[in-house]
Amino acid sequence: MRAERLVSTAAKNLAIRAGELTYQGNPCKNGHDGIRYASNCRCVKCAVDDALKQNESRKAKRIAADIDRVARQKAMQEPDYSRLNSLWLSL
Ligand SMILES: [Zn+2]
Repeated sequence: MRAERLVSTAAKNLAIRAGELTYQGNPCKNGHDGIRYASNCRCVKCAVDDALKQNESRKAKRIAADIDRVARQKAMQEPDYSRLNSLWLSL
């Protein structure tokens, strides 16, 4: 195990004993400053970024569903002119 990893693990264990949620670990692969969750060693900034992306994705899906729902409602409210025309012609 590399020295950096040992220091990071020791910092994590100290944080857990102290009841801290985060500790200063090694910078993550995305270049963040190394603040990590003590519970799972995950980079806090990466976790926030992922949560934001997930929220954006959910938001986009919700908006698309709303657009679809409004289009369906509008289609239901508009009279069916072809049917009306055939009724008119049959009179
Ligand atoms: Zn990160």
